[in-house]
Amino acid sequence: MRIDIVTLFPEMFEGVLGHSILRIAKEKYLVQYNLFNIREYADNRRCVDDRPYGGGPGMVIKPEPVFNAIEAIGQQAGIHSKKILLTPQGHRFNQSIAKELAREPYLMLICGHYEGFDERIRMGLDAFELSIGDYVLSGGEIPAMVVIDAVVRLIPGVLGDLDSVVNESFNGDLLEHPQYTRPAEYRGMKVPEVLISGHHQKIKEWQKEHAMKRTRERRPDLIE
Ligand code: SAM
Repeated sequence: MRIDIVTLFPEMFEGVLGHSILRIAKEKYLVQYNLFNIREYADNRRCVDDRPYGGGPGMVIKPEPVFNAIEAIGQQAGIHSKKILLTPQGHRFNQSIAKELAREPYLMLICGHYEGFDERIRMGLDAFELSIGDYVLSGGEIPAMVVIDAVVRLIPGVLGDLDSVVNESFNGDLLEHPQYTRPAEYRGMKVPEVLISGHHQKIKEWQKEHAMKRTRERRPDLIE
């Protein structure tokens, strides 16, 4: 998968893309990340934002540098990308959207900042608008990182063990069952007997039952 990130702050991505699973995915050649600074595509002395028409606080990202960037990247890539515009007004991101995006060969994530995008960016791009939740962040960079992390770990081959994806929360309609590791007893809290019994069928049943119980207690909406 090719992932292009169009942002005013490319440096913010270095830490996240350079560590853990996102880095391993790149080292395995399963994903390629490309960062593009919107500022470099501005016609007018690197000016990327301006005051909103009609008044109001803050600055709005101008359409020209964003369209210039996206068109130049498109020409360079030579193939069509699925464009994702990060905005708190978009579809709420979840695991099933992550799964759909993990099937795409080429994603382009476009990050806003300041007071957001000039409306014509939204109107002129055939982009999927995505929000990571009902709150407002300062920029689309952290939301883009959230989306990239959730998507890349679903690309076949990225995680060593396919079961990590199959069994985890939201993959079915349930939260994951509780997990334990050594020691078998810690500060008086014991690992349930069945999990150390070696009886695979019983362990599966326990996990299923506890995934159900946990979901019912914490997220009854998922069961409904
Ligand atoms: N004025 C905008 C509004 O009220 O809808 C919010 C702009 S926000 C301060 C600046 C940028 O951060 C947005 O353009 C978007 O790219 C990003 N952003 C903020 N919150 C987000 C969220 N929950 N999901 C996705 N992107 C978000």
